[in-house]
Amino acid sequence: MVLSSTFHAGGPVGYARTSNPTWEALEDAVGALEGGSALAFASGMAAVGAVLELVPVGGVVVATSHTYSGVAARLAEWEANGRCEVRLVPADDPHLIDEACDGAALLWLESPTNPALEVCDLRAACTAARGHGVRSVVDNTFATPILQRPLDLGADVVVHSATKSLSGHSDVILGALVTRDTELRDRLQRTRALLGGIPGPFEAWLVLRGMRTLGLRVRRASESAQILAERLAIHPGVRRVRYPGLSDDPGHALAAQQMYGFGSVLSFETAGRAEDAQRVCESTRIIVHGTSLGGVETLIERRRRWPDERSDIPDTLIRLAVGIEDVEDLWRDLEEALSSLPS
Ligand SMILES: *Cc1c(COP(=O)(O)O)cnc(C)c1O
Repeated sequence: MVLSSTFHAGGPVGYARTSNPTWEALEDAVGALEGGSALAFASGMAAVGAVLELVPVGGVVVATSHTYSGVAARLAEWEANGRCEVRLVPADDPHLIDEACDGAALLWLESPTNPALEVCDLRAACTAARGHGVRSVVDNTFATPILQRPLDLGADVVVHSATKSLSGHSDVILGALVTRDTELRDRLQRTRALLGGIPGPFEAWLVLRGMRTLGLRVRRASESAQILAERLAIHPGVRRVRYPGLSDDPGHALAAQQMYGFGSVLSFETAGRAEDAQRVCESTRIIVHGTSLGGVETLIERRRRWPDERSDIPDTLIRLAVGIEDVEDLWRDLEEALSSLPS
């Protein structure tokens, strides 16, 4: 781990806001997994911000209506300030995405979406964007490169919150971008240096360390998520489960085609009122009541406890971000917490 802020003249690094050997080791790993060249940022949102800088003043951004809350808030703020125009599209309608790209500057995609778990046809959406001369960006935080490689499906840029699965231990905030376009990479690297949203070397090292078990963790968590989704789907206290791994999920066929697994996050709606769902989240013992995803520990939360969650997300919707604990321990914990629900 290299902590220096300055370097001997004449070497590969001039000053540590531009580059750092520890970031480069991490960037090599993330780039290899996604199939492109990566840049590390101070946070997922710092990476998001650098990509949004590509939008010219007054330009149009097309985004899936369910995007990460920070991205949605940033776009809404920019639109209110007149910085850009925003067109929101349903993630699961490639035709509307195609139409909305007409005259746009950037297409922002997430799949599966958070927390509605809709699946977007990434190849169709990125191809449509390219046809309109629009750059496409995919936030691949949920799926990770273990389960989905958006650059192979035609995306120009991949965004990561490495805070989640890439690091995997809920102990670091860091972001990354990946692209195959070397000119674009240089532009984004310059933006990073000028905005200064750079990661600390220790954080980069922690993510690199976490990535050594990325494949193991993601596969284990996805297997457990599948088992829990199937059991929740037949539980009398549960109204609906959203998980692309369920054979009757609207996104199942598409996810089976474009992903190498269905992921570690699922959402379910409970019977009864919001208070009942809230009580479920507050009464688990192994599963931790809190936000985030992609860590070794399973997290549960009722998404509408956040005032800025979209109102089309039901107030009884619970997001379960599955970790790597024993799945039978997780199920016993959930079953006990669900036992108070009206059926
Ligand atoms: C957490 C998250 C982000 C933001 O990342 P930070 O590291 O918290 O800044 C962006 N996109 C998705 C999908 C996320 O889950």
